[in-house]
Amino acid sequence: MESKYLEKSNHWGRAWAVEMKTAISSLLILTLTPLMVFYFYICAFFYDCALTAPIMELVSGNLTLSSVWEKIPSFSTHALAVFACWYLLQLFLALIPDYFHRIIKWYKGGKLLGAVTPAGNQLPYNINGLQAWSVSLTLFLLGWIFNIFSPTIIFDNWGGLLIIANIVGFSLAIFTYIKAFIFPSYINDRLITGNPLYDFYMGVELNPRLGPLDFKLFFNGRPGIIGWTLINLSFAFAQYYQYGFVTNSMILVNVFQAMYVLSFFWDESCYLKTIDIHHDHFGWMLAWGDSVWLPFMYTLQALFLVFHPLELSLPYFIFVFLLGIIGFYICYSANNQKNIFRQNDGNISIWKEKANFIPCEYLTSDGEKRKSKLLTSGWWGISRHMNYTGDLIFSLAISLACGTEYLFPYFYFVFMTILLIHRCFRDEHRCGHKYGKSWEQYCQKVPYRLIPGVF
Ligand code: NDP
Repeated sequence: MESKYLEKSNHWGRAWAVEMKTAISSLLILTLTPLMVFYFYICAFFYDCALTAPIMELVSGNLTLSSVWEKIPSFSTHALAVFACWYLLQLFLALIPDYFHRIIKWYKGGKLLGAVTPAGNQLPYNINGLQAWSVSLTLFLLGWIFNIFSPTIIFDNWGGLLIIANIVGFSLAIFTYIKAFIFPSYINDRLITGNPLYDFYMGVELNPRLGPLDFKLFFNGRPGIIGWTLINLSFAFAQYYQYGFVTNSMILVNVFQAMYVLSFFWDESCYLKTIDIHHDHFGWMLAWGDSVWLPFMYTLQALFLVFHPLELSLPYFIFVFLLGIIGFYICYSANNQKNIFRQNDGNISIWKEKANFIPCEYLTSDGEKRKSKLLTSGWWGISRHMNYTGDLIFSLAISLACGTEYLFPYFYFVFMTILLIHRCFRDEHRCGHKYGKSWEQYCQKVPYRLIPGVF
């Protein structure tokens, strides 16, 4: 069979040539996704989370475009103050040293090196996310206990926060685009395709930094992700204050998503080796995505449960709980196998057997030839993205926790399915160009992407 990746290339970063269809889809995502976030907001606050209701009303003429406009939240200085305090706190927590790794022996934090970039750079990072998450959560709870602010502060300002997050997301994207040309951080790790729209959307700089602040680690991994746990908690409080109880579905969604965030920070050092950090450039997709998409769309389940306080029957609760635990376990354990494998240069045992791998080489644009290994044991011998499979099962469980009556809470699962299937292809394109024939060999040995025997 003719190899797709006969020659390795040092162009294994993100796309360096843009086809018309890619540019058009970037434009569509840039314009439609912000509208989608507002659409979900309107459905939740004005239509009881019925996703088709506004469209039906528009079609029947009961709703005009100007009355839709009236439903868009307005700018609020109170929301601005909440947002500013949150970002300043996160900035402070991101820049201070990590104390956790000094206290907890097995926790990997402090100053650590990231992956080798296509230009051959290897950057230091301040890994202290677990500390930032724990301090933020503690401060939020103390604020409630000592009556400094209401724990529903996030829910109460949700509309105003949405407006400010959009202003911040778009401004950040414009700033980083201009910065990439005027004062780039790592000039050899920029990618300029010649298509300004695509470059704005996907980003020019791989690792923009301002002094000690790494944009990707901070914006991808701090205000939004830490906020995720607090937003869910605030929604749980909102449910309690409205109805006088918290449902088991709300507890399940809170616990599952907090587990997901905690596992992210537990392994934050490994986050440096994920596609987000070592492959994606910092453009609108990450700047706006981190500021708006993640906090406002990943929390839709808990928001739904504020409007629909659903109490799950015990058998259904147990079913969803077990499904979630299975998905979480597969995802976490697959990521863990790869991380430990890479940290120990392949010298580990998986499932009581010595780990097998395919040795491979790759080039960086400084002309250096480097070595790596592709794991073929454990989950990585079952399918090429078993971590994604586990993540999808987990996402489904979180959506199922909100019952089966409404489509609204299933958005997260649908989005994750599209995102992770697209990622399979994106990652394989990258790995094919990076590792050439060795990647082809890996695909022959492990022929399925997500579900063995199916896809
Ligand atoms: P991976 O962690 O799977 O990283 C892919 C990289 O791993 C490849 O580019 C390659 O990098 C390396 N690799 C691939 N195959 C092997 C192998 N067999 N052996 C060793 N190394 C290999 O992907 P992501 O970064 O996309 O995802 C990380 C986690 O984050 C997943 O659990 C995913 O589900 C989750 N996720 C969650 C999202 C959310 O919004 N909730 C969004 C995206 C991801 P190299 O160059 O080092 O060889």
